[in-house]
Amino acid sequence: AAVFADYSARTPKSCALWERGKAVLPGGVSGNLRYFAPYPLYMATGSGSRTIDVDGNAYIDCFSCNGPLMLGHRPAAVLEEIERHRDMGPLILNPALLVECAELLAAIVPCAERVRFLNSGTEAVLSAVRYARAFTGRDKVVKFLGHYHGQSDAFLVGLTPDRRPFGAGVPASTQQDILTLPFNDIAAFEALMAERSDIAAVLLDPAMHSGGLWGASSDFLHVLRRETAARGIILIFDEVITGFRLGLAGAQGYYGVTPDLATFAKALAAGEKLGAVVGRADVMAVTDPLTAADIPRAFQSGTGNDGTAALAAAIGAMTEYRRQDAEGGYAALDTAAGECAAMLVSAFAAHGIPLHINRMASMMQLFITDAPASFTRYAELRTDLIELFYLALINHGVMLSLPTSNHVYFSFAQQAADFAAIAEAVTTVLQTYPF
Ligand code: PLP
Repeated sequence: AAVFADYSARTPKSCALWERGKAVLPGGVSGNLRYFAPYPLYMATGSGSRTIDVDGNAYIDCFSCNGPLMLGHRPAAVLEEIERHRDMGPLILNPALLVECAELLAAIVPCAERVRFLNSGTEAVLSAVRYARAFTGRDKVVKFLGHYHGQSDAFLVGLTPDRRPFGAGVPASTQQDILTLPFNDIAAFEALMAERSDIAAVLLDPAMHSGGLWGASSDFLHVLRRETAARGIILIFDEVITGFRLGLAGAQGYYGVTPDLATFAKALAAGEKLGAVVGRADVMAVTDPLTAADIPRAFQSGTGNDGTAALAAAIGAMTEYRRQDAEGGYAALDTAAGECAAMLVSAFAAHGIPLHINRMASMMQLFITDAPASFTRYAELRTDLIELFYLALINHGVMLSLPTSNHVYFSFAQQAADFAAIAEAVTTVLQTYPF
């Protein structure tokens, strides 16, 4: 009650906007996960590591709008590039910077012999799977329980430890070509491979981010690579989360495993709307208008696929990621995030609360549990306390995560002073409120 009361006292303008917004937007928001109780914050602006709400409260932003803001708010490298191309207008046919952006992506991502741009991660996954089906002439796609691949019907299957689609409105007919397996289970994967010959693609988020950030085991990824290659199955890394986050070269660089295709969005354009499918030239050739008649041709389109601001933003962002990589920025952020995780565990322990943290590079998720945590136990874990903790931190100027999402994404904008302020807020919150 005290956490809610303090939140309400600090955010009257957000409350008023929510009351107004509910009349036109279901829940007052434009995405189910943007809502949290008692009502969501509405933001006015942001700068670097901070975001500022409509009441003028500033927050150290470690939610990063669910990942894209790897460079923080209004990063100069991105804004300057957008500004430089402003005279081109928002959309022109085949802009020159399309080629420049694709060259940069191909130079950074190991599997990226060819590139197609789209508008979102959802679209990129849909397209990649279509290319794999066209190339192989097969229909079935393997996905893993707990892996999110965007909001298309077929891939809302198996987000939880069972196969049930996530939410209503997903027809059974869209699920029949999706085969689901437990993640990191080599025996289950090998058994399926031995059983079937109709699999077009194996699709995974190497971080298993939406299922709790459990991360792929390196052995598992090597088995996936070996078995798919042996069977002509297209291995797709969905790098919408891991791209430019696990390191400059994403999960493929982090694990040293090169997939056939990969999808990108989120950090790719650091907040502008851009998705991409990249991969092997022979597979991507299914989208090539110049392909010979005997090669299957897959449709790929999108009216806004090469918007000026998005491409310019991606060029600015990728150039900055390269600079960070060259100057040790990824390693430094990994260290700072690790220290923050350790600080949280010991601060909770000092109050007798057992905390388990899953962390990969600049991402982490928090679980309150005194038994060993795992994805299969995940659904039973208590979330009420952690949600309240995130809201209490918001009361003290730190948006570690949105209360209902449990997704923490640090950015290059966070400096030592921000991490010190986070530690101070954690101490204050645990002392102030009776958790
Ligand atoms: N793939 C993964 C791994 C994601 O985490 C997401 C979004 O969170 C998507 C795909 C969908 O991306 P978008 O929200 O841009 O459609």
